[in-house]
This record gives sequence, C-alpha cells and structure tokens, in this order.
Amino acid sequence: MIPAPLLLTNVGQLLTLRSSQSGPRRGPFLSELEIVDNAAILCLGGKIVSVGTVKDALRDPWLKKNRKKVSEVDCGGGVVLPGFVDSHTHPVFMEPRLVDFEKRISGADYEEIAEAGGGIRASLEGVRTASQAALTQRVLHALHDLTKHGTTTVETKSGYGLSLDSELKSLEAIRAAAKQWAGTVIPTFLGAHVVPPGYRGRSQSYVEIVCKEMLPAVAKRKLAKFVDVFCDRGAFSEIECSTIFGAALQHGFGVRAHLGQLSSPRDGFIESMLECCRPASLDHMDHVRDHEVAALAKSDTVVTLVPGANYFLGLEQYPPARKFINAGVAVALATDYNPGTSPTVSMPMAMSLACTHMKMSPAESIAAATINGAWALGLADRKGSVEPGKDADLTVFDVRDYREIPYWFGVNRCVQTIIGGVALASPA
Ligand SMILES: [Zn+2]
Repeated sequence: MIPAPLLLTNVGQLLTLRSSQSGPRRGPFLSELEIVDNAAILCLGGKIVSVGTVKDALRDPWLKKNRKKVSEVDCGGGVVLPGFVDSHTHPVFMEPRLVDFEKRISGADYEEIAEAGGGIRASLEGVRTASQAALTQRVLHALHDLTKHGTTTVETKSGYGLSLDSELKSLEAIRAAAKQWAGTVIPTFLGAHVVPPGYRGRSQSYVEIVCKEMLPAVAKRKLAKFVDVFCDRGAFSEIECSTIFGAALQHGFGVRAHLGQLSSPRDGFIESMLECCRPASLDHMDHVRDHEVAALAKSDTVVTLVPGANYFLGLEQYPPARKFINAGVAVALATDYNPGTSPTVSMPMAMSLACTHMKMSPAESIAAATINGAWALGLADRKGSVEPGKDADLTVFDVRDYREIPYWFGVNRCVQTIIGGVALASPA
C-alpha cells in the first residue's frame, strides 16, 4: 500500500545530515549536521521528496495544488532528524538476567559471572525451550520500544540459541517480527557468540558446526545479511573468527565482529582482517593499539561504539572515541540492547553516554547514531539523512535545540516517529 503524501511542518530545527562528502563521516565531518531552521519536509510514496524552509514548501506548486490530499504533522517547533539507525542489538531472548545484575553489584566481574554459568549461557535455556511465536513476540516488543525512542532501522542478532535448531528459530523469529514492524530490520547470524556448554575445551568442534551446518542452513533460508563473531578472551579466538569469516564470505554474507571488549586482539589481527574480509563493522573496541587505529582510518570499516555496555557493567574505562574520531576512523553508536550487559533500547541514552563518558560532541553523537549507523549496515543510500530520494524515516523530539537530545538523560523526549512516510501513533 502506498502511503498518502505527508508534510511535516513547523520544524524548529531540522538536522538533515546531508553531505557533499562520499563515504561514512570522519573527523570534522562527523559534526556537520546541516541544520535548516523553520523547516518543512514533504514525503511521497514513502520517500522524502523535498526538504527546505516552511516558506519554500508553501510556494511549491505541487503542494499548492494538492494540499487537501496531504496529511500534515505539525512538529510544534521541535527538532526533527533522521530516524536512528541502531546497528547493534541482541533482542532474541526471553528473560532479563537479574541474578547477574545483583552478582555484579556485589563485586563479580563479567568473566567471573560467565564462569559461574551466568552471562550469555544463562540466556540459552530460555531461548532453546521457547516457541518461535514467543520469541517473535519478544522481538516485536523490543522493536516497538525502539520506535518509541526514535529508532527506525535496527540490526538484530541471533546468538542465544547456539544450536542449529535454536539459532534458526531465533532468526525465523526476527523475520516474523520484522514483517509486523514498519521499520527496517537487518538480521545478523551470531552463532559464534560463546562456546556453548557441551563444547567447552573443544571449541573447534563447535566452530565446525557453525561453518558446516549452521551457515549453510542460514544461507539457504536467506535468514541473515551478516555473520558476527564474538572474538575475545573467553569467547572465540582470532583463528576461529577467521575460519568463520572465511565460510561466511563464501556463502555471500557480510561480516562484522565483537572485538576488543575484554582484551586486545592478537597484534596484527585487525590489519589482516581488514585486508581479507573487509568487515562492515568492528564493535566495542575498548582495547585498541595506535597502529590499529591508523589502519582503521584508512578503511571503510565502521567502528561501532556501545557505551551502554560500559555503563551497565559499571566500568570506569570507555572506548577511546576521541582517538578514533581524531584519527579519521568512521565511528557509529549503537545501544547493544541485550539482557546481560546493555538492557536499553534508547539511542539518546547511548548518545548521552557518548558525550559524557567518551567526550563526543552532541553533534558527533547524532551523526554516529544516524548516518554512520546506516553505513555500518550498508544502508547509507536509503537511510541516515534527510534528503530527497531517501526513505521517509524521521523522528520528532520535543526540544528546541538538538543538543538537548543527549542532554536530557533518563527521559524520553521523542514524541513522534515517521517510518516510510507514515506517522506512527505518538509514544506520549
Ligand atoms: Zn553485542
């Protein structure tokens, strides 16, 4: 069904994020928001067709003639920006991990909790025993929550099943939920999240199952666009990661990795991976060496920072965002929504943490949460900026100045989300 023409008017500040530069935003270009004051946006057939001032819009001959057919959203002088692109989430789980939460408060760290059977492994049973319909409802609930906070595109990973059947079930649940949600879902297969119980001490056998059984089945059913690997101490080694990436590329998947969260990868690994696999994104990256930053700056691989995880784990150290940005690395921000280390769907919260704990400017946090998230998912031709020809995915915030979006933390100021040119029911 083609949506009716939609006009957004009375936009106090419109953050277009348009750019004359090609490729993901780097260095000083990360803070260029290209703001239009007193703006209007016309959407037709789910796409943005014109962007300008209200004055310009009212002079538009097509609009003059067709005004009665156009539905209008009065943005009340608020701030409008592209819908957030959350390029890293794990929504396929059943229960929150409250025992881990309390254990950590009383002093246990990530790896101690994992050793005691908590962490990722604690979510396995819920997913393995749940019906696909129950998982679908969980994912759909998360997608609706994301929309309420201004997110219109989401990357969603499997990874709490860790067996052929339960990983396929997780990805089928993502597909079913995506069909019922207006926004865009990019599914990622994360069969290599941790080594599941039963394979401890023989992770190589599990990697073989991932490569020879799971990947072909996921490819055959077209259930994922990307393959992700958690490559770190206590998860998968660099060699195992390379093996899985090799198989993934053969099946036509794009690749991305959780890297450098708990420890530095083996020296030289990042450079060799950039060369052989051209990952779309490397995520976390708390531990990174200067020569790796330099290599990343020369690549199109996006570094996706997820400060929500550092916050929720109560860490003092955050990823070195300034080092990345100053060196010219393309940086994105994501929530890392998951039950163990980052139970938040709020991109504004991730942006607030980026400002307060990683010293990113409010403008940088917005570009990282929109256009660079789109680059991290290979969607920059359709998402992440407000320009004619792009999908009409927009979000309206009840603030006067864009800097208020990361400023007001712990409260949701998103009052309207527009997806594919359709204004969804207001969250407030
Ligand atoms: Zn993650």
